[in-house]
Amino acid sequence: MQSKRSIQFAFEQISGIVLNANEIFEEYKGGFKKRKEYNENELKLSCCECKQELEISSSKNDFLHFKHKKKSNPCIFKNSKFTNEENKELQEHYSNKESERHKNLKNEIGKKLDLINTVDSIYIDNKFIIENGEKRKPDVYCEYNGKKFVFEIQLSKLSLRYILNRHNFYKRNGIFLIWILDNFDVNGQTQMEKDIKYLNKFENFFKLDEKTEVFRLTCKHKYATLNNHNKILTPWTEKSISLSQLKFSDSFQVYFYDLELKIKEKESHQKEVVKERKILARKKEEEKRKEEELNKLNNSKLKVKKIVNELRNNWVEKTIISHNVERSIKDLEEFELTLLNNIINNSKIHQWIIKAKNEHFYFIYFMLDCHYLDFDVNEKFKNKTILEYLFENVLLENKLLLFKLIIQRNYIFETKDEIHIKNLNLKQKEVNQIILLSQLSNKLYNKHSIINLFNYPTVFCILESAKKNKIVGLGYKENQWISFTDMAINSYSQYFEIINKAFKEYGMWNIINSFDKNKTIAKKLEDYKIKKPKQDGKLHWTIKAIYPELIEDEYF
Ligand SMILES: [Zn+2]
Repeated sequence: MQSKRSIQFAFEQISGIVLNANEIFEEYKGGFKKRKEYNENELKLSCCECKQELEISSSKNDFLHFKHKKKSNPCIFKNSKFTNEENKELQEHYSNKESERHKNLKNEIGKKLDLINTVDSIYIDNKFIIENGEKRKPDVYCEYNGKKFVFEIQLSKLSLRYILNRHNFYKRNGIFLIWILDNFDVNGQTQMEKDIKYLNKFENFFKLDEKTEVFRLTCKHKYATLNNHNKILTPWTEKSISLSQLKFSDSFQVYFYDLELKIKEKESHQKEVVKERKILARKKEEEKRKEEELNKLNNSKLKVKKIVNELRNNWVEKTIISHNVERSIKDLEEFELTLLNNIINNSKIHQWIIKAKNEHFYFIYFMLDCHYLDFDVNEKFKNKTILEYLFENVLLENKLLLFKLIIQRNYIFETKDEIHIKNLNLKQKEVNQIILLSQLSNKLYNKHSIINLFNYPTVFCILESAKKNKIVGLGYKENQWISFTDMAINSYSQYFEIINKAFKEYGMWNIINSFDKNKTIAKKLEDYKIKKPKQDGKLHWTIKAIYPELIEDEYF
């Protein structure tokens, strides 16, 4: 609600009291008594704000009020009307202005400023700042480092409109205004505090530091800090500062601590902390991973060492290698297997074969057969092949079995190796067959294919004989083609389809037919075509590897 009177207060100079219009004009008679006193020069009234003379005037209905004189200069009370609430605050402010505390503070400020060499032109309550006839009389005025300063003491609540009015007036006149607050708590969030905050973006509040002899201000401000959780906090703090520590903004604000700037700095620091923490976390993770890897490696080494020890024990004790060892090898991870193989390869398989006694047969057998173990049987040791060592060792029996295992490891069988087979005391047919199969094994890289080759020797001898147009590895005499074919149809009918294909491919039928005077084979073939025995496909891939021309690619 707006006050009916635009001027609520008047300073009475003779008594030194601030008069409130509501009170003195309340009673009709009392009011006119005051007016009479004024007219008789017993009252000397001036405007609390602009200090110009006031008069008591009456409007229609005898409504009494304070009024600036005609042709007076502009004043905030001439232009704007305050609400009842604002008027209350102003009254308190004006009466405080006349209080001892107020007088003491402004004198103290002036006295202390006077002690500073670089401060001059100090005025205590007696310097008018005039702009277009509008007058202001600050509590303390001074000049410092080429800058003009006013100190306004504020002991009580004031409306933002009033505060802003002051601030803008001084700003327009190029003067820095410092509010000296007293006796109120900025920590609270009263309207007044919010207003000052609005007024001063730095949120710096000043008091006079009364504990020191020299001029110092106590600046209360929020400061930015990062806590342990990397959060920015802005708690309040208080610091005693000298005049030289004050800073000045372009918008005529005085401050000591730039909260906004410091928050920005903390924010970039905050980001760095996040980054550092991420790097640290990654580093820790990496260390953990390395440690785990090392632990794993050590565990693996132990595991492998155990297997090596057991194998060594088997060798020394000439005992059979247990299933447990076999399983442990099978269960090794790939890199553990590499570890094991590195150790095993250091003491070449050749050396075991050289040193093997009869009882070491199973050890050698295991090592050659276990395909998790990896060694190069084509490697020469002291310029001799593994086969040479095998056949030189007279103590080792069952050489043919070990020979096949070596062939299964993709040993490249050469003509010079044939002599070992020939020396084995076998029937000529067997010798021929083994040599033939060993030669064919050079075309195979898969262990199971080589096993197939040696498990079905006759099938491959039939195919090879067809390819060469010459009976090999089967014990038939030259030109016994009828017996040969008869055997193929009778005993290997489940593979005869591919055999027949080979006969066609390699031009065998011309030869067979020329010998088939009695049409024995022709009849068998008719019979075969009627019976159509089921074909066994298990040799498919082995045959395809050796005789690719017989099996067309099925992928296209
Ligand atoms: Zn005025």
